[in-house]
Amino acid sequence: MLLFNLIINCDMANRCIICGSFPLGYYYEDFRGNVSCVHHNYIKYCCGCGCFVSPSTAKHIHGDGYLCAKCQTNHVTYANKDKFINTSLGILYKYGFQDIQKDWVRINLISLKDICERIPEMTAHGFHTERTISQVNERGRFGFDQEVYVLDILPPIVFMEVFAHEILHAWQLQNNLNDYSDYHNDIIAQRACEGFANLGSYIIYDYFDSENFNDEIRKFVQHRMKCMFESKDEIYGLPFQKIMSAYPFDDKSRWLKLIKDARQSKIREYVK
Ligand SMILES: [Zn+2]
Ligand SMILES: [Zn+2]
Ligand SMILES: [Zn+2]
Repeated sequence: MLLFNLIINCDMANRCIICGSFPLGYYYEDFRGNVSCVHHNYIKYCCGCGCFVSPSTAKHIHGDGYLCAKCQTNHVTYANKDKFINTSLGILYKYGFQDIQKDWVRINLISLKDICERIPEMTAHGFHTERTISQVNERGRFGFDQEVYVLDILPPIVFMEVFAHEILHAWQLQNNLNDYSDYHNDIIAQRACEGFANLGSYIIYDYFDSENFNDEIRKFVQHRMKCMFESKDEIYGLPFQKIMSAYPFDDKSRWLKLIKDARQSKIREYVK
């Protein structure tokens, strides 16, 4: 993901978050207005919100992972996670996913250290895994026993978007979608699954990009949506962009069409 912008004019620059001096010429700026001189050849990001951090003042979590001051005081925990899970599900329902079967999915938090050990991609914030084959649960329903893990240091909006992405994998499995079944054997199926799961994240951002929410929230979600549309990732970013461009933005029923087409394995046509 592209997390910073290259700014040409330095007249209004703040002090550099790394060396404390005013940058000369070009500098990098994050979505909060934190800046860094371009000659620092490594910039550290907060693993909660993605803003720049100074390793000397941010909280070190694990490996290369730091947490900014804001995320240290405002992140989802075991005590409050259910509230944000339910909000995220409520938003997904509103956009057309009325059949997510949460009772089949155990939802866990995971530390940065543990996620780094389980997932080789350093930037993973969550993952979905199926534990067993289809079985009957205590309600007498057939389904797949599954788990979703979300990083335990994420601010609420990031937690909700990561959860939304992962719970759409649970939806793909529970609905026996062809692309999900072919995931590990077919790169096109993998792109269709991940590109479509990114729709979950996008829906969360789209919901919060409204006048009902304050400027800080809107600025953040707009930044995240921009990153999603600028991503060059061949499994997640580009397939998501191709899927989105196949459904016109001004069409009010586009979410429903997209969900219906995903059920019928039609979106793989867009990500070949
Ligand atoms: Zn500097
Ligand atoms: Zn942060
Ligand atoms: Zn995924």
